[in-house]
Amino acid sequence: MAKQHTHQNNEWCFETQAIHSGFGPDSESGASKSPIYQSTAFCAESAEDLENIFKGQSYGFYYSRVSNPTVANLESRVNVLHRGIGTVAVASGMAAITAMIFALASAGDHIIVSKSLFGSTYYLIDGLIKNSGISATFVNPTNLSEYVDAISEKTRLIFVEALGNPKLDIPDIKSVSALAMSAGIPLVVDNTFVSPYLLDARSLGAHVVINATTKYLCGGNSAVGGTITDLGQFDWRQHRGTPVLEMEKFGQNAFVAAVKKVRSNSGAALSPQNAFLTLAGIETLAIRMNQHAKSAQSIAQYLAAHPKVNDVVYPGLKTHPQYDLGKRQFPNGCGGMMTIRMGNKDNAYRLIDAFKLIDNSVNLGDSRTLAICPAETIYRHLTPEARESAGVYDDLIRLSIGLEHITDILGDFDHALECI
Ligand code: PLP
Repeated sequence: MAKQHTHQNNEWCFETQAIHSGFGPDSESGASKSPIYQSTAFCAESAEDLENIFKGQSYGFYYSRVSNPTVANLESRVNVLHRGIGTVAVASGMAAITAMIFALASAGDHIIVSKSLFGSTYYLIDGLIKNSGISATFVNPTNLSEYVDAISEKTRLIFVEALGNPKLDIPDIKSVSALAMSAGIPLVVDNTFVSPYLLDARSLGAHVVINATTKYLCGGNSAVGGTITDLGQFDWRQHRGTPVLEMEKFGQNAFVAAVKKVRSNSGAALSPQNAFLTLAGIETLAIRMNQHAKSAQSIAQYLAAHPKVNDVVYPGLKTHPQYDLGKRQFPNGCGGMMTIRMGNKDNAYRLIDAFKLIDNSVNLGDSRTLAICPAETIYRHLTPEARESAGVYDDLIRLSIGLEHITDILGDFDHALECI
């Protein structure tokens, strides 16, 4: 029998929690990392036990589409990092956004979302969500009066990205959450660009936080996944929405229960293997985020001074329109994402083709430095007006600064810019 210690302490710092929370040594084997429970189904001791597990009256597992022990370990760890009251892990970042919306809104309801959104999130809201009878108003996330004007009796949630993808604009989460609270509406923040290490969404008053764990949490380009965390700051009794929220049965856990129901019924389960890889990735999240942010800051400064680069958007540059807000909201650094404009599409494509180290890839948050022209790839289905609102232009390149040595990343920019 392995030596037992609990590996849970609310006083530990972020870096320590990222390694130890959510799972202590395995009680049977002593394994210090979560086992991968690669089993579709789980047996119960008796017929009555199985009934109780199904009814949620005793703790246990019965089918991995509904829940799985490895996935539960990941949920516990992410929950500790966000200081939430419950986290649900699902198959992808998109599945997380979908499950969150269907938990809070149904046909006839209305939602408010940022205009600067990741392309697939835009397609989801303008497609499946709209086709399900849920209307959406797209607002400039930095303009409070647009939220005020959009709120109606039917509004069930406000959704913003902590840093717009790819516009990198910054909603003032404290002010938006105060506004949302006064209207009895939860504020949901997509934390994907910054991760829980760079943005403490809870302390700013957000109610729910989403992560595409595919990106920084897992890191290293290894596993698609997503999480939804209830930060415990919204009184769900105030929510005028959907029948999916069963307040009488679940009380303050109603939102988490509703998301689990959507996960189970839509089949958006995360695989145990991907949960394991994400748990492993999270152990080095803080140290990676520090390096991403440090390199990105230097590269943004270098590119801003380069005569062949027309424009650089990075929240850590003084030229960023919300530079002061960014400093307050992201005290540990502004992350690894930035955009540059090259004057025309031809120059942008030539730069990408000239890179020898930097990958031409749609992903972000990888240890590799990545570049993509989003206009005709991620955003190809948007109207020209919607593209412009999202900050997407033909000559725009989105960069995800990786963990290679800064000398090599700068060397690749140097050489590629020479080719233009
Ligand atoms: N949210 C943001 C801000 C993203 O950038 C992405 C993907 O790039 C997603 C959500 C979706 O994540 P996934 O690809 O895991 O579905």
